[in-house]
Amino acid sequence: MMKILVVEDEENIAKGLRFNFEQEGYQVSLAEDGNTALSLHSDASPPFDLIVLDLMLPEMSGYETCRQLRRVDTDIPVLALTARTLAEDKAQAFDCGVDQYMTKPFALPELLSRVRNLVDRRRRTLEQGHATRPVEDSESFGSVRVDFGRFELHNGDQVHSLTTKEKELLRYFLQYDDVVLSRSRLQSDVWRDSTEITSRSIDNFVMRLRKMIEVDPGNPQHLVSIRGTGYRFIRDPDKNNRN
Ligand code: CA
Repeated sequence: MMKILVVEDEENIAKGLRFNFEQEGYQVSLAEDGNTALSLHSDASPPFDLIVLDLMLPEMSGYETCRQLRRVDTDIPVLALTARTLAEDKAQAFDCGVDQYMTKPFALPELLSRVRNLVDRRRRTLEQGHATRPVEDSESFGSVRVDFGRFELHNGDQVHSLTTKEKELLRYFLQYDDVVLSRSRLQSDVWRDSTEITSRSIDNFVMRLRKMIEVDPGNPQHLVSIRGTGYRFIRDPDKNNRN
């Protein structure tokens, strides 16, 4: 699960942000001031994936907090929030190492969409060490054999034909074996952000794949749900259980 640290001294705003981020499936921590934020950041394991930083904080300013943060972590995305609108404040924020900047009052959908983009980019960067595997035209896992060229899936003596999207989705899961894939990421990478697809229809696609590949679709071993986020494909569940 991706983790967000919210640094905001106004309790109502902090709690509102936490509520909305949790609805999106993120794990959220709150800090009321810069020093607390820096120590939460250095103690976090696994590390945070994004910091949402109010620039007007008591004691140490958000600018100074970001400057100190950048001495120890050049990579973590920082989204700054501020009530100020002067251009020089914006420039100063970018100088301190802020990645993106929004002025209060902000529109929630825009904030959530920026957060999603920053977190997705972060995840891709992290996964570059965790290289994806190339998917062959014919792949096998468990009792399943998939022939992508023929849009066919064989499981025991059963043969299923795949639609184009079922095929693309299964291929994507195979490519990201063992990686947690959010619904928003599936929507952007498999459906290329089509507005036709909803979270519920992604779930329906997954249910259809489960019926084809799982021994017990109600208790999936290969295509598991990650609560609040999406799915993870596990090519070899026995190996995972041994670890
Ligand atoms: Ca403030």
